Amino acid sequence: MRLILFGPPGAGKGTQASALVDRYGIVHISTGDIFRENVGNETELGRTAKQYMDAGDLVPDEVVIAMVDDRLRQDDARQGFLLDGFPRTVAQVEALDEIVAAQGHTLDAVIRLIVDDDELVARLLQRARDQGRSDDTREVIANRLVNYRAETEPAVAAYRERGILRDVDGEGDVTDVRERVLAAVSEAEDS
Ligand code: AMP
Repeated sequence: MRLILFGPPGAGKGTQASALVDRYGIVHISTGDIFRENVGNETELGRTAKQYMDAGDLVPDEVVIAMVDDRLRQDDARQGFLLDGFPRTVAQVEALDEIVAAQGHTLDAVIRLIVDDDELVARLLQRARDQGRSDDTREVIANRLVNYRAETEPAVAAYRERGILRDVDGEGDVTDVRERVLAAVSEAEDS
């Protein structure tokens, strides 16, 4: 199973990703988590990424693509994966197409969580209070949402045109959202 989970910051991608990887026994690849780990370990990649992350900007395509290419070549990703936070630009969509095709596979489903902007900001500010993520300030949140609309929505549109995008209502109770996400993937699997 090869899945992509889309949604603006605060849509609940991380939470729903856990349900999907448990159900399908695949690896969860979150580019944001990989960057945060590298920032924490003060690696060269972390130093590069941090300046963009702190401003709510996207890390340059070539950096992210090389990182994902490397991650998808690892053994545990051979049987399937869930990508969370990647691709985020049209160039990343194209790069992923090449990586997946080179491995002789196709994507099984692309899910997008839909959440209203006011709700997103409220959730992100709450997360800032709970987890203290440095990019969850009001100003940086606004920029991340702008970048999502400008860069990531065209990437989502590429999958919509291919007919493999499924929109899921990401508002309301977390367990209800989970049921909707699992149902959407299972429908994609059957189609
Ligand atoms: P996330 O945890 O997915 O919200 O990602 C946190 C931050 O990491 C983003 O605001 C970006 O700065 C960076 N990032 C994560 N994934 C990508 C990506 N696919 N392309 C560019 N930047 C990314």
